Amino acid sequence: MTSAKVALLLDRDGIINIDSGYVYKYSDEIIYPDILEVVKEANVLGIPVAIVTNQAGIARGMYKVSDVDSFHKHLKNFYQENGARIDHIEICPFHKDKGEEMWKFDSLLRKPNPGMHLKALSQLMCKVEGSLMIGDKQSDRINLLGLKTLLLQGDYEITPANDLCQSRQELCQKISNYLNNLLDFS
Ligand SMILES: [Mg+2]
Repeated sequence: MTSAKVALLLDRDGIINIDSGYVYKYSDEIIYPDILEVVKEANVLGIPVAIVTNQAGIARGMYKVSDVDSFHKHLKNFYQENGARIDHIEICPFHKDKGEEMWKFDSLLRKPNPGMHLKALSQLMCKVEGSLMIGDKQSDRINLLGLKTLLLQGDYEITPANDLCQSRQELCQKISNYLNNLLDFS
């Protein structure tokens, strides 16, 4: 659709669903409808959408990979039922010093490292430059040159900067503006 093929990369907990801490039980009630609408918009514009989520609850033994898979299956179904599509999901189950031995690893996949982003972008055949990352933690500012960021100020401490939004409404509006303006450069 556009020659500038970029992707929309979304943190999960606190952005797509309510973050009650190590969320692994799915229900439709925890899904934020505002971001679903933004994803719908990205779909229409032909901009691929991926979730990139740290899931150290796996390393910590709080839930299994299969729980996360099941959550995502339900999430994708719910999105689909509501006319929105998630194109790709990356998770990082590792933690460098917490939990079970098999998951104890200082992984390049774990945000703020860029591993999940590079995997997702590669899979979606998108470029880093101009792709947009959305999150609600300091660690959602990814160490990846060229990647744009918008963060939501919620319960987590984040260093103030221009990428910080004070409300979900502001966040969704800015994402929408960004995605729509991309077309001007095609
Ligand atoms: Mg989050």
